[in-house]
Amino acid sequence: MDFKEKIRVIPDFPKPGIRFKDITTLLQDGEAFQAAINTLNDFARKHDADIIAGPESRGFLLAAPMAYALGKGFVPVRKPGKLPGETISQEYSLEYGKDSLEIHKDSVKPGQKVIIADDLLATGGTIGSTIQLFEKLGAEVVGVCFLIELSYLNGREKLKGYDVFSLVQY
Ligand code: AMP
Repeated sequence: MDFKEKIRVIPDFPKPGIRFKDITTLLQDGEAFQAAINTLNDFARKHDADIIAGPESRGFLLAAPMAYALGKGFVPVRKPGKLPGETISQEYSLEYGKDSLEIHKDSVKPGQKVIIADDLLATGGTIGSTIQLFEKLGAEVVGVCFLIELSYLNGREKLKGYDVFSLVQY
């Protein structure tokens, strides 16, 4: 399957100079969507994870079907103020300013193995703070996977020591 061919690139979105990788064209193609989830799960199976986690919101679109197909748990990683229970949070830097992500304190147990899935690895800020959240709770992040990796932004550098997998590279 040529996954790259299924991803639409939209120039100057959401602002001038950004070449936005639009995965909706891949998701709306049933065969491509299924093949993408299956390939990500070939990676996840190597690690025998207990939990598949994904950051809001495009991470949900991958992590939830991965977890379902594997018969494992899904944990949402959310923007502040969205989760109703007790949470922990982790800040990360954006190009301008800061943002943070949260998970429920009881979303994983110490020692559980977690795979994190997201649509795209750019600078690695989002995934880096997601990893920190699970490690704070004593879980072990055994792998991180993406549909797309923007190799020229060197996000992998931030993820040294972790097993990183991506379907498509730019
Ligand atoms: P980062 O934290 O820098 O790795 O950014 C990752 C998040 O930003 C991803 O989850 C994407 O949803 C989004 N993102 C960054 N750059 C792009 C891009 N060129 N096209 C689509 N989404 C992007």
